[in-house]
Amino acid sequence: MSTSSRRAWLRSLTGLAAGTAALAREAHVVEGEALAQTPAQPPVAASLALPDFEPRSMLHVPETHVERARFPVVDVHTHLTFRVRSVGGVAHGEAMRTLATPTEVLTVMDRRNVQTMVNLTGGVGSGLQESVRTFQNHPTRFAVFTEPSWDRITEPGYARWQADELGRAKASGARGVKVLKTLGLYLREQVTSGPLVTIDDPRFDPMWEACGALGLPVAIHISDPEAFFLPIDRFNERYEELHAHPDWSFHGKDYPSNAELIAARDRVIARHPKTTFIGLHVGHSSENLAAVSAALDRFPNFNVEIGARIGELGRQPRASRRFFDRYQDRVLFGTDAVPNGHQTPQQVFGDDLYTIYFRFLETEDEYFDYAPAKVPPQGRWRIYGVGLPDPILRKVYNQNARRLLSL
Ligand SMILES: [Zn+2]
Repeated sequence: MSTSSRRAWLRSLTGLAAGTAALAREAHVVEGEALAQTPAQPPVAASLALPDFEPRSMLHVPETHVERARFPVVDVHTHLTFRVRSVGGVAHGEAMRTLATPTEVLTVMDRRNVQTMVNLTGGVGSGLQESVRTFQNHPTRFAVFTEPSWDRITEPGYARWQADELGRAKASGARGVKVLKTLGLYLREQVTSGPLVTIDDPRFDPMWEACGALGLPVAIHISDPEAFFLPIDRFNERYEELHAHPDWSFHGKDYPSNAELIAARDRVIARHPKTTFIGLHVGHSSENLAAVSAALDRFPNFNVEIGARIGELGRQPRASRRFFDRYQDRVLFGTDAVPNGHQTPQQVFGDDLYTIYFRFLETEDEYFDYAPAKVPPQGRWRIYGVGLPDPILRKVYNQNARRLLSL
């Protein structure tokens, strides 16, 4: 637009605005006369505190209640046991805490058609043996992963010991290795002090190689939602979540950026092509499916799991549906479920959690809650189902997991 025509255009807008204002004034006078004869309305507060705002959707749309998954489910991302001791975000020692008995968990699993649960945080050494023992009476219903012993990285010979230790873990019953975001965001050179240890630190190379040689897939969680790397301010779309859990913020200090963490992860995946990696939480980039797609295209040994990210997938249902179509052999079902009183609603193990996941995957329902909570806990939005066809649903629910985890 030329300068003179732009000016003319602006003038026409100003004229329009003035006319609208005059009309509004007129309407106000007429309305005011009418109001004078009706009883006063209760005043509407000029502002409302965000925690008090609980809008209820007025949409009239179909609601599907999916009581049982259409096909048996393998939930590859659960936490049934945890290490007892943690210092500065790094687990120490071998002692374990069990969060639920097999019987408690099986009741929900049977009701919802969950065939197998994979307990990723099975621990190390004697703790791992204990985790395996707790669930061993139901060998087709539970599988256990082991973890690296980050608390021992300063010991001489750690690199070789860790690789060998994974062989012993496999002999004890571990089906894979879980890597928490401890690596990259908490683990430091002197374990809890000093500079952060990078994800692609060469001292872990023997460990990644051992995973490939032993056939132990690596369920890896590095980085976090992009919003966790930004200031906790009014522009942050996960303000309430970060306000409730300020320790989840990795903004500032000496934290690497989200992009640096992902790049370091990619160097590890590239360096160990015979090792199978399962990128938890949609490869840690559920807000950026183009980036996840690029990683899947680049690395044949990379797969993803959807735990605690249906809030992200479900707010971009068309892109998600295309993603499931394209990578149907490499997406695994997971929830990140934690039994008994976990503080984050999107992870509380139980009937409600599973029905929401099934509704998201199986139906084309619109605008529903992604977590059993009064206010959406991972951002104030609702989600849309992707309505996967049966052949894809079967792969995501169980076939991909059975193949990758040899279940
Ligand atoms: Zn998890």
